[in-house]
Amino acid sequence: MPSEFDLIGRYFERPARDAVLGVGDDAALLRVDPAMELAVATDMLVEGVHFHAGADARALGHKALAVNLSDMAAMGATPRWATLAIALPAADEAWIASFAAGLFALAERFEVDLIGGDTTRGPLCVSITIIGEVPAGLSLYRAGARPGDDIWVSGELGGAALGLAHPEIPEALRRLNEPEPRVALGERLRGIATAAIDVSDGLAGDLGHILGRSSVGALVRYDRLPRAAAFARLGQGEEVRRLEQRCVLSGGDDYELLFTARQAERAQIEALARELALPLARIGAIQPGAAGARAPSLVILDAQGKPLSFDPGFDHFAGLS
Ligand code: ADP
Ligand code: MG
Repeated sequence: MPSEFDLIGRYFERPARDAVLGVGDDAALLRVDPAMELAVATDMLVEGVHFHAGADARALGHKALAVNLSDMAAMGATPRWATLAIALPAADEAWIASFAAGLFALAERFEVDLIGGDTTRGPLCVSITIIGEVPAGLSLYRAGARPGDDIWVSGELGGAALGLAHPEIPEALRRLNEPEPRVALGERLRGIATAAIDVSDGLAGDLGHILGRSSVGALVRYDRLPRAAAFARLGQGEEVRRLEQRCVLSGGDDYELLFTARQAERAQIEALARELALPLARIGAIQPGAAGARAPSLVILDAQGKPLSFDPGFDHFAGLS
């Protein structure tokens, strides 16, 4: 049976490219550029809550890091370093090797160093803390949206939720299990976007966070929302239309970027979409917040101009008491 230290040394210790000291001591050491601000985020994935028991180890390694990279993207930060806290029910080396392969493949692609962590026995749970850099003052906050700003979203929506409902559709399942963090887009939106968030809990809920933080409202046109091409596989009909609407408005786990920008930036954002080969859809506009309103006002209109009802998004504790 390998020891905790064998596992760390075999699967998680790699030379750090860009840290003073990485895995192996009591703490890692980073040299910090005084012109930069550090962006720090943590995300935790728990078996039975965020993924099913028996989930593919390689995909889990990818997703655990991808969701953190997505938070960096949403801040306009360049991801640099990560730490990994992992609880494992057993020292299953084949499983750990696959998990590490998924994690390091993504880490190498984004030039992120794994610089430390903690390894313990327990119910399967993976938590990564990521540290990124952004030139001082250029980070993208949720709070910067102003009335008149356009609302934009990258890529396509609803694919991950479709993968949850229809795991037999391979491209939808891939969206759910192996999201692609929009890091390059986030970096390029510095100085262009007025606010940004990544879509982890559904468009309606995550736009609601921007509206709340910015004290504004929004009008969104449902027919402008980019939807996953995989919905076409289900054919037509009222039931499919309703599933698609639910996935596109309230499905989580897409990890697209949702951002706002002044109307004067339209041409630049369209050029950016071409340059990154990533569709960017202009889906609506920020409106003044209703004075004294308790909830931020988000109105989503269908193609006929009728307001749609929608689920405001996922909350781990909703309905519990
Ligand atoms: P300590 O007991 O001093 O906290 P540990 O024995 O937990 O140290 O860890 C030894 C070294 O291995 C540390 O540098 C720690 O950051 C690193 N480490 C532990 N688990 C992981 C992991 N899952 N991934 C990356 N580094 C890890
Ligand atoms: Mg420790």
